[in-house]
Amino acid sequence: MSLLGFRSPDSRRTVRSLPGSGEFAVPRPEPLRRVPPAPGSWPRLLVACANPGCGSGWLQLWRSRSAPVFEGGWSCSRECTSVLVRSAVRRELEGRTPSEAAHRHRVPLGLLMIEQGWITARQLRRALEAQRAAGSGRLGQWLTGIEGVSEQLVTRALSLQWSCPVMALDFHDPDALAPLIPRLFLDAFSALPLRVAGSRLLYLGFEDRLDPVLALAVERVAGLRVESGLVRASLFRPAQERMLGAAFPAVELIEAASEPASAAALVRSVERARPVESRLARVHDCLWLRMWLRPQTGPTPEAGQVQDVICWIGGF
Ligand SMILES: [Zn+2]
Repeated sequence: MSLLGFRSPDSRRTVRSLPGSGEFAVPRPEPLRRVPPAPGSWPRLLVACANPGCGSGWLQLWRSRSAPVFEGGWSCSRECTSVLVRSAVRRELEGRTPSEAAHRHRVPLGLLMIEQGWITARQLRRALEAQRAAGSGRLGQWLTGIEGVSEQLVTRALSLQWSCPVMALDFHDPDALAPLIPRLFLDAFSALPLRVAGSRLLYLGFEDRLDPVLALAVERVAGLRVESGLVRASLFRPAQERMLGAAFPAVELIEAASEPASAAALVRSVERARPVESRLARVHDCLWLRMWLRPQTGPTPEAGQVQDVICWIGGF
């Protein structure tokens, strides 16, 4: 799975501390995005079939099937579910533009640290040589490992490079947060949900690079505004290990050879589970379908309350 698409750095920076955090923080100002309501708070006013082309005239009130609900709309039949899901799959694939894969120019970490006066050119050269000789490891790791540069400084440099805050791990509750994002994504994209503030804002931590595509998908699926930041590697890794050991929602993995095949597989899942809500978002080369089997009461679901389907679409 490849990491694609990163936002261009934002030059407008302000400095403040995150609540409960002793860390240096550089918040990235962002335009307000529309975040869907948290699952469980959506209005239950839609009593007619959500498929605009449905000719049945069924109202939910008169139909024995009260589910499934897909993206807030009830569908009266399998055919109508299929129309809704196919159109959502089309929407997600249309979003897969080359611009997402475009190379964004970031100041190289080493140069940025020299510019700040945090390392010398000699230190950078030695770290780069060691990295090349070993053929592995991040530059930051080599700078800390052999040049004795503090990890805090490396993380601070990364946060300047990504124009994002450095986030703390205070009050981290892996069991409560694990059900927010499929385990596969946390593992593949080195992400870590840190905490939910005020029921509407999720702090999402990354080890050394942000993943705006994953962050946006989580916003749309979870109905939470997501603020991304970096976490110091020595804190990130043990916390991620703890989280990967927590209970995650059941997940079904599908590999689809074409757009119609992916839509058909997702329709089967929705019709089988008959969720009270379901949402679809693309995460790089995957379509992520989340289905709520019961209404969600708090800002995060419980592991048994939701089911995920991850459909690999990298092959077409
Ligand atoms: Zn219908």
